Amino acid sequence: MDLFQQMEGMGHERVLFCSSPEVGLRAIIAVHSTILGPGLGGVRMWPYPSTEAALIDVLRLSRGMTYKAAAAGLNLGGGKAVIIGDPRKDKSEVLMRAFARYVDSLGGLYITAEDVGTDVDDMETIRTETTWVTGISPIQGGSGDPSSVTAFGVLQGMKAAAHWKFGDAALSGRTIALQGLGSVGFHLAEYLKEEGAQIFGADVDPDRIARARQLGVEIVPTTDILKHKVDILAPCALGAVLNPTTIPELSCQIVAGAANNQLEDEDRDGAALADRGILYGPDFVLNAGGLINVYNELTGYHRESALRMTRGIYANTMRIFELSRAEGIPPVAAAHRVAEERIAAVEKMKARHWVQTIRQPRTISFS
Ligand code: NAD
Repeated sequence: MDLFQQMEGMGHERVLFCSSPEVGLRAIIAVHSTILGPGLGGVRMWPYPSTEAALIDVLRLSRGMTYKAAAAGLNLGGGKAVIIGDPRKDKSEVLMRAFARYVDSLGGLYITAEDVGTDVDDMETIRTETTWVTGISPIQGGSGDPSSVTAFGVLQGMKAAAHWKFGDAALSGRTIALQGLGSVGFHLAEYLKEEGAQIFGADVDPDRIARARQLGVEIVPTTDILKHKVDILAPCALGAVLNPTTIPELSCQIVAGAANNQLEDEDRDGAALADRGILYGPDFVLNAGGLINVYNELTGYHRESALRMTRGIYANTMRIFELSRAEGIPPVAAAHRVAEERIAAVEKMKARHWVQTIRQPRTISFS
């Protein structure tokens, strides 16, 4: 498909192809929207099999960031970057610094952060060339690893879902299954333990299983975790785990987790969950804590204010369930509507303001 057609179809503002062969850099930065603010999103380093695969990923991920920021009420647009390469073999200081120069050239339209294949150290390298970077270490005044704040946000969304479904937000005594006991999954298990929930978990990594078992998580085989009979299922590992094969096998009343893009197809699978009477807490609403965390870095990071903002995910999730019921649409469709309406309203306001600005008389000075 023609790239311009693709950009028009998905609504992207600009796509920057970055090529610095002398350092082995091939990267793409996609700015989906800057209507609400600069496009903030992580830079992913991955050995994509083709330029086209990298392009599709960055277009999809950057659009996802627009929705996440808008639904969370942040003054941020959506952006994302991908570097084509294997982070274990191809990453170097000069490659990261060259990438940073391209970020800088956008003058703040795109702000980068860590993602799959990049980490806090990379963000500090990037900072040597540009200020448009977040996710740097706390010692340098940054917010560091966002996963505990992400988990705290998922907990808020899960409580809202419990309130909506069971009439009680308390998670004490509830049975909860975690698919993935990594950074977010483990922190979520810690929060759920404090809440008094009965936690089941699965992971493919023996070290992560051992750590979770020590916390008191009951380990379930990875092949059974999605169908385990529980009140709440929390996907915290992979995308596309909710699809026509898995949805009929689910044995839970709520799905509320951290993983990005849990629905293989948002329309089809969102509707299938609703048909089964399973309440779905939209992933991009529940896992916005990580984005809220780096957003707070832009104004001088304070963990307390990041957590206070993240607590707002409870009210946000309730608002989406209310709209879903009022309109008779699945929660994921309601979440999209909330995001789109906010973007459209701000765009309209800006357009009006622009007209007023150009009506101002101008004074031209020749001195
Ligand atoms: P992570 O890599 O630390 O943890 C993922 C865990 O899932 C790993 O322990 C991995 O072994 C496990 N896993 C992989 N395949 C599995 C399978 N088939 N069954 C069970 N477990 C499996 O990643 P993370 O930072 O905890 O992120 C988890 C998810 O949440 C990802 O989808 C990520 O995109 C999303 N997310 C994370 C953040 C954040 O702040 N880290 C923010 C928003 C969204």
